[in-house]
Amino acid sequence: MRYKKLAELYQELKSTTKRLEKIKILSKFLEYLHKEDRDVMYLLLGDIYPEYDERRIGISHQLAIKSISKATGIELKQVVKEWKSLGDLGRVAEKLTLNKKQSTLHNYILTTEKVLENLRKLPELEGKGTVNKKLALITELLTSASPIEALYLVRTLIGDLRIGVKESTIRESMSKAFFDGDKEASKKIQGTIDKSNDLAAVFDVVKKGKLKELKKISLEVGKPIKAMLAQKAKDFKDGFKKLGKPCAVEYKYDGFRLIIHKKNKNILLFTRCLENVTKQFPEVVGYIQKYVQGKSFILDSEAVGFDRKTKEYKPFQEISQRIRRKYNIEKLQKELPIEINVFDIIYYNGKSQLNEPFKKRTALIKKIIKNNPYKIICAKQIIIGNEERAKEFYKKALKENQEGVMMKNLEAIYKPGSRVGHMLKIKPEERDLDLVITGAEYGTGKRKGWLSSFVLSCKDKNKFLEIGKVGTGIKEKSGQGITFDELTKKLIPLITKEKGKTVYIKPKIVVAVIYQEIQKSPNYASGFALRFPRFTALRPDKSLRDINTLDEIKEDFKKQKRNYRYG
Ligand code: AMP
Repeated sequence: MRYKKLAELYQELKSTTKRLEKIKILSKFLEYLHKEDRDVMYLLLGDIYPEYDERRIGISHQLAIKSISKATGIELKQVVKEWKSLGDLGRVAEKLTLNKKQSTLHNYILTTEKVLENLRKLPELEGKGTVNKKLALITELLTSASPIEALYLVRTLIGDLRIGVKESTIRESMSKAFFDGDKEASKKIQGTIDKSNDLAAVFDVVKKGKLKELKKISLEVGKPIKAMLAQKAKDFKDGFKKLGKPCAVEYKYDGFRLIIHKKNKNILLFTRCLENVTKQFPEVVGYIQKYVQGKSFILDSEAVGFDRKTKEYKPFQEISQRIRRKYNIEKLQKELPIEINVFDIIYYNGKSQLNEPFKKRTALIKKIIKNNPYKIICAKQIIIGNEERAKEFYKKALKENQEGVMMKNLEAIYKPGSRVGHMLKIKPEERDLDLVITGAEYGTGKRKGWLSSFVLSCKDKNKFLEIGKVGTGIKEKSGQGITFDELTKKLIPLITKEKGKTVYIKPKIVVAVIYQEIQKSPNYASGFALRFPRFTALRPDKSLRDINTLDEIKEDFKKQKRNYRYG
């Protein structure tokens, strides 16, 4: 397919902000998309491979600038100048391609196959001369690109397509194109996307226009799958009303989700964002080999940190670095040990378990896992219909430093990627405080250019004492609530000192935050840290006189212990 056709589609999609319009445009395109052009499905989301595949384009702005300069014959300095004035590298490429000085205009017609071929070579390059090889691959494409092609090529390269298409837009467009927008079809398509995480594979099947065909896409061990998510219950009464009696009540561990695949001897670990983290957790691979029976399986679990000496469980923040860190793994493994708590099974010895009731799945886990505390265990669980006993269990979970409990319907199936009403979380009520911002950190990625993590302080006589950091509750886009952009603009004039990404801020902006718990902490000057803080509002109506004091926080700390720690 000509790349120009795709670029024109991008343009058309971009021309409207209305979701239904976008779906109409995209569904028409999908109707006429040929089987052999199936990989264009990845390009629609700015990717080159299915979502489960970790290979990404990963081109820096710097390299894109160099390539624009090479392809158009315009000096690097000039390209940078244009970038500063237009603020968008895609537009720079478009403009400069239009004014192209070189006579190489349109060497050959650019196709989506050629674009994918070159882009797919990028993540494979390693070692010496990589940058130049990458540059050559991109420049080859840009040299043959027309202005509109150059615009979208560059946007794809830097991972900023800006056409307002999400996975859900594609799902609805598939449903409209091949099933007249039938709601049931949309649901089934989404289910297949969640299982396979491969839009082209789903396209292959939906194109036939038969819903039954969707069943043919099933789980594959080794290919990451989206986790099932929970809704909230107000309390046990509410939970039992929604789920029926009895149901399973389990510890809601305060760690991170780990989905474990085993296929013969091969073991792979994925996070809930489908990221492969096997290398970071060699000990977990060992536990699976040793303590879980079965040739092939997919287990759903929560990894929780604990203190090697006291055996006390630690909050997630203290072990979060284990997920990202790719070096000194052995040392980290010793310092920050984790325990795997298995709470579900999705696949076992050649058979999907998705449609089995939870009671059967949970029984299967208990059969195949040899419990080894502080290594791997089945999540702590009771099957119960009695509110009082459920509450006792909940208190025990909190006492052991966990977040609360999960209530699960015993008959329910496993629905990958869905926030289901048959799995409910119960956590302590949230409480609020008014605090002042005294520091911040510049963000990265999508939040680049904004302050994105804010240090909060309470008051102690004339001093301000730090009590935690908050980044949650602030929006990236304007609409409801305060945005990073607005907050950054308010704070920049108040910066007193900068050190790398960190800035110190004159205490002035008062904010309301809610949190779940206060913990003692040596990391902050107040001696306390907020657990799960979330920003709720700016309080321009409040002054520094009104913010909470250290004494009040100490009082809250004591009260909370009485309230739900030891009840
Ligand atoms: P939340 O992130 O607050 O929506 O809570 C859902 C998360 O709790 C899941 O994604 C899991 O990572 C975690 N979790 C901890 N323990 C369990 C459990 N026993 N069953 C299901 N999820 C759990």
